[in-house]
Amino acid sequence: MSTFVRGLKCRLCSKTYPAEPLNFCTDDFGPLEVDYDYEGIAESISREKIELRPFNMWRYRELLPIDGEPTVGALVGGTPLVKANRLADELGVENLWIKNDAVNFPTLSFKDRVVSVALSKAREFGFTTVGCASTGNLANSVAANAAAAGLESYIFVPSDLETAKILGTSVYGAHVIGVEGTYDQVNRLCTQVAFKYGWGFVNINLRPFYAEGSKSLGFEIAEQLGWRVPQHVVAPMAGGSLIGKIHKAFHELHQVGLIDSAKCKIYGAQATGCNPITDAIKNGRETHKPVRKPNTIAKSLAIGDPADGYFANKVMRDTGGWGEDVSDKEIAEAMLLLARTEGVFAETAGGVTLAVAQKLIDLGRIPRDEEIVICITGNGLKTQDAVAPVLEKLVVIKPALEEVERLVERSSAAVLV
Ligand SMILES: *Cc1c(COP(=O)(O)O)cnc(C)c1O
Ligand SMILES: [Zn+2]
Repeated sequence: MSTFVRGLKCRLCSKTYPAEPLNFCTDDFGPLEVDYDYEGIAESISREKIELRPFNMWRYRELLPIDGEPTVGALVGGTPLVKANRLADELGVENLWIKNDAVNFPTLSFKDRVVSVALSKAREFGFTTVGCASTGNLANSVAANAAAAGLESYIFVPSDLETAKILGTSVYGAHVIGVEGTYDQVNRLCTQVAFKYGWGFVNINLRPFYAEGSKSLGFEIAEQLGWRVPQHVVAPMAGGSLIGKIHKAFHELHQVGLIDSAKCKIYGAQATGCNPITDAIKNGRETHKPVRKPNTIAKSLAIGDPADGYFANKVMRDTGGWGEDVSDKEIAEAMLLLARTEGVFAETAGGVTLAVAQKLIDLGRIPRDEEIVICITGNGLKTQDAVAPVLEKLVVIKPALEEVERLVERSSAAVLV
């Protein structure tokens, strides 16, 4: 397999660097991004060639930044795009899809996409120890994928994270370290650790490669719609990377001749308890004010000072999209709505995304008769505490038919009145 990667490029000043484990420009500290030879890719890629490959994220390998075959996460991606007619009826829209990354392999969130690229690249660079700063899903994914690849891993998380997310990291034999502090404090600590020990931190020194993995979600949406983009995409924002990469994915597909148009309005979703990016766009500011103490049940999105906040804001404005945020109550209700209408149990981040979509539709920002894709990025089994308080308690009966009859008749009576 040959690579079409030219190197890295600063997103602010365009200075170029070789492909190495480095995430910022030494001149202006701007974030670095992978730079590709798109003409070469256009010549070598075709819809037919892609369609013959297995349905996982690596079928778009020409547009992903590793040199050889993927050695980590070779089966990640290929998640369903579900036509959501029952949910569409509830929201009063005509044409709605759910991109369901809650069933991504192996750790049930879209983070498996970024980790598979980051760890494959880590191996190409020769790292044997990897790590991350995480709000939960990244921890699960780095731990699992590192275990399967025989890499040692150090995972740093805020110590108040959901039990399921901590357990779902330790189980893989990772070194899990709970830090008393916010995600931003964890992240700063990890920058020092990466430097001191020379480890490969997926979202720090490997970040330019890591971030590219998110594009595969966008590639899949376009292919699953029959090689075209929808009019509207709603996606959640934590560090603000995913939303920009969906946009980049559509543009790359267009640039290499796989789709006719990349025109799509992109909307970002946050929780009101940690809304630095949506607060900025709603108040007409280009840069965000960091949220010092995030306070929301959507812990996976609780990044107070998002690394890609500026770029996320720009993508929403440049595409004609928008950003909104919702309360914890709206998040829990949306989780239940999605489960009840489509049989999809999303984590809190999914509740954020759906509730924001609903709000944007109600506000008239997204027209009811146009095509909408909502990105569900994580699984509800990891954040059960968010919905437990609003669900009815388990009904318990004796093993006798009369008890069932009494229940059934009571509930049909309830329906009648
Ligand atoms: C990390 C994460 C996101 C957002 O990712 P960014 O690229 O940091 O904005 C969205 N949903 C879930 C479930 C996540 O874990
Ligand atoms: Zn620069």
